[in-house]
Amino acid sequence: MAAKAYDLVVIGGGSAGFNGARVARELGKRVAIVDGAKELGGLCILRGCMPSKTLLYSTEILHLAQQGRTFGLRIPRAEADAAAIQARKRTIIREFADYREKAMLSGRYDIYRAFARFVDPHTIELSDGARLRGKHFLIATGSRPSTPPVPGLRETPFWTSDDVLDLDFTPESVIVLGGGIVACELSQYLRRLGSRVVLVQRSPHILRDHCASAAAVVEQSLRDDGIELFTDTRLDRISGDQNGVTVCFDADGRSVIRRAKHLFNALGREPNLVGLDLAAAGVRCTAGGRVAVNRWQQTSQSHIYAGGDVCGPYDIVHLAVAQGELAARHAFGVSGIKPINYKLALNVVFTDPPLATLGRPEDELIAEEVPHISASYPFDDHGKSILMEAKRGYVKVIAEPKRGRIIGAEIVGRDAGELIHCFTTPMAMRATVFDMLRAPWYHPTLAEIITYPLEEIAEKIAARK
Ligand SMILES: Cc1cc2nc3c(=O)[nH]c(=O)nc-3n(C[C@H](O)[C@H](O)[C@H](O)COP(=O)(O)OP(=O)(O)OC[C@H]3O[C@@H](n4cnc5c(N)ncnc54)[C@H](O)[C@@H]3O)c2cc1C
Repeated sequence: MAAKAYDLVVIGGGSAGFNGARVARELGKRVAIVDGAKELGGLCILRGCMPSKTLLYSTEILHLAQQGRTFGLRIPRAEADAAAIQARKRTIIREFADYREKAMLSGRYDIYRAFARFVDPHTIELSDGARLRGKHFLIATGSRPSTPPVPGLRETPFWTSDDVLDLDFTPESVIVLGGGIVACELSQYLRRLGSRVVLVQRSPHILRDHCASAAAVVEQSLRDDGIELFTDTRLDRISGDQNGVTVCFDADGRSVIRRAKHLFNALGREPNLVGLDLAAAGVRCTAGGRVAVNRWQQTSQSHIYAGGDVCGPYDIVHLAVAQGELAARHAFGVSGIKPINYKLALNVVFTDPPLATLGRPEDELIAEEVPHISASYPFDDHGKSILMEAKRGYVKVIAEPKRGRIIGAEIVGRDAGELIHCFTTPMAMRATVFDMLRAPWYHPTLAEIITYPLEEIAEKIAARK
């Protein structure tokens, strides 16, 4: 049978792939989406952002209810019903997935429910034997949990985030390997659900891509919740039997052994390139194993694009969407497009308290002697956060030292993931601290805490003139 031909063949219908396909269709192109998953929707909807945040919101409310006395409330008993939390999550995720599936099956795209592999730079073969030809391709196959070479890990049964997100019971005890975003968020979820949790992180602090000071606030909160948290460790050996798992590691030069019923491997994710046969297409990867792309998302073959986790540099949904859209616009010659501005890197960790950052961490700016000026203000000295008993953390503003242009912000504290958006538009528009101070800030709000570091920077700059 002759191969069907398309203007764009998208491999992987998640956030990057679907949005690339959508833009190409809006440009009037013939588009095929190939996705081999049992369910359509991609990681964000099915096993990433949305299910994790749904679960975390339940335990955040539980935690608040358990603090009832502090607020003068008599809440006799607040406890988790893991099965009900899971049922609610399933209903919500089903709705999101149905909505996405409807959009994909709307007839605007040809959908192929199969896995793809390249045969040559313009042809893919599907797992059902069909062949498709494309003028352009978008590789958007996402990522999958990785299993680093830790002695005994491969031989020991472990959970990944996929399993943790599907639990409908409260595990008695869990050892979590890793201290990244997924590890921290889901450790806190499990702990608040009622599990005994031990977290083992290799780096000197959790959330190693963030500043040590911000990570320390989250670390303290996890410890206060009752998580036994080890940093600066080296995993020596992992083993398991029908009673559970044993993890032996070195922490601060001493040997530590911890046992638990379950093991959660949250040591990271890797690009999902299995079976794609990129070599047949002549597509090259970086030393880190991601698909190498230029600023327009083109791979080493200029008609083949990549977007999302498969190429990075960050595993973040709004970037996957932007990369997919950019790839489609570039492929079909839309004028006036711009590459993605990674200086506007926006990241949120949905722990309690959450941690949100915009721009580069100040630790990095200091290490590289990048001229900047910063000021911070603690939540425990701000009216609204005091009355909310949300006293952990701080807001930090980073500005260019001459005119006070905003170049970054770091917020760790209640609603940080919302508050950080006070900075995204000003930073994208190259506004200064003086511009931001011209705006009104309602009292009493959490947001008005931002005015204190803005004022401090404005005063420092004014004093220099
Ligand atoms: C637990 C968890 C929580 C997260 N929380 C957040 C968050 O709060 N905020 C945030 O910004 N990011 C979050 N992320 C990251 C975010 O989910 C990802 O960055 C994003 O979903 C990646 O989108 P993608 O399009 O690259 O890949 P995906 O959405 O994974 O899509 C890839 C698709 O490709 C298909 N596929 C793979 N191989 C083939 C093949 N050979 N042939 C055909 N189809 C194939 C797959 O079936 C899949 O549908 C989280 C991730 C995890 C794991």
